Amino acid sequence: MQSHTISISEAKALDAEDPLSGFRKKFIFSQHNGKDALYFTGNSLGLQPKAAKYALQIELDDWGEHGVEGHFRARNPWMHYHELLSKNLADIVGAKPSEVVAMNALTVNLHLLLVSFYSPKDSRKKIICEANAFPSDRYALLSQIEFHGGNPETDLIEIEPREGENLILLEDVLSAIEEAGDELKTVMMGGINYYTGQLHNIEAITNAAHEVGAFCGFDLAHAAGNVPLNLHDLGIDFACWCTYKYMNSGPGSVGGIFIHEKHHNSRLPRLEGWWGHDKETRFKMTPDYISMGTAESWQMSNAPIFNMAIHNVSLNIFKEAGGMEVLRERSLRLTDYLEQTIGKVVEATSANLEIITPCNHDNRGCQLSVVAHGQGRELFDTLSANGVIVDWRDPAVIRMAPVPLYNSFEDIARFGLILQDALN
Ligand SMILES: *Cc1c(COP(=O)(O)O)cnc(C)c1O
Repeated sequence: MQSHTISISEAKALDAEDPLSGFRKKFIFSQHNGKDALYFTGNSLGLQPKAAKYALQIELDDWGEHGVEGHFRARNPWMHYHELLSKNLADIVGAKPSEVVAMNALTVNLHLLLVSFYSPKDSRKKIICEANAFPSDRYALLSQIEFHGGNPETDLIEIEPREGENLILLEDVLSAIEEAGDELKTVMMGGINYYTGQLHNIEAITNAAHEVGAFCGFDLAHAAGNVPLNLHDLGIDFACWCTYKYMNSGPGSVGGIFIHEKHHNSRLPRLEGWWGHDKETRFKMTPDYISMGTAESWQMSNAPIFNMAIHNVSLNIFKEAGGMEVLRERSLRLTDYLEQTIGKVVEATSANLEIITPCNHDNRGCQLSVVAHGQGRELFDTLSANGVIVDWRDPAVIRMAPVPLYNSFEDIARFGLILQDALN
């Protein structure tokens, strides 16, 4: 039975009966007045796994001991380091290991993927994306259009929410794709919108794009490690993501890409470097490029080992927890609980809090975006002063994400009581 008011003991009971509650102990919480903060910004920078330090130390020690020989003699030889990550990474995004590789950073990867999946020709030169996408994505798309000598005004079609709405309707995306028809080269959307938390219908959008002969790819910055994905089976052409948000791999850590196997040996344009060269002969240093023949062919440079050591630790935690389906089940319960808790705060204070993230499970990950109508930055300051870490965007949007690996029902109940006090 759920109480009508926020109850810490009820939250503690929910934590006690949840087998995944113990994973919280694997992470270091940021501190507020000497105590663990109520950390809800895993959608921005995930918490540090305790094991990160040891994994990093191993690589530092191996570098110290072996110098250049570490490429072959390190406990995890650096020469093949990225291969250590591929299986776990593939499981998280629903791909084959040959279709993913950890490399570079997100916006860089988006550009490299667009080199392959956006080569406008004749009248087929339009890109469809969502309006209000993360700005870096928009900059990337516009600069790609300009780079190819196109017209940013007409070649980028941004799907807007309808007048007075916050969310983008699937039917509007689908009809824009149909309308662009054979002028459409590429659809590139966020899997989950960073601002509203809306999870798009990846399958329907991909099918519609393919129907008109366009490529379809996704920026999964807010979806990878948040919701189960199925990139291979859906036939998605390409995807990229960062690993410092839900994948807890540290600030600016190495990003990741997915390229469907159907493209591995096609003649797509591609920028190449030695790390994409067939590994059997890479160190023969021959002048001609021989492709790895997998997503690894898109790699250019040798791997950033220190980043990857942490990423590897983090991916192993996902595996230990049982994978994305298991985490998603807990994630849905935590986010529903947050939604109910906000409902209780509204009842107790009659504040006007509007959750703009869809309430339907199929259309959201763990993040909720809440508009605190009539409130100002003082609300955010009061929350911060009480050890609550959420993301605030003017005018009054609170974005927060209970992360199933480390947030608890108790975190949410405590947040609810602090919010209630702040509003009273
Ligand atoms: C976080 C985020 C980025 C950040 O890009 P970097 O290249 O990692 O700095 C870009 N796009 C989206 C959608 C994001 O959520």
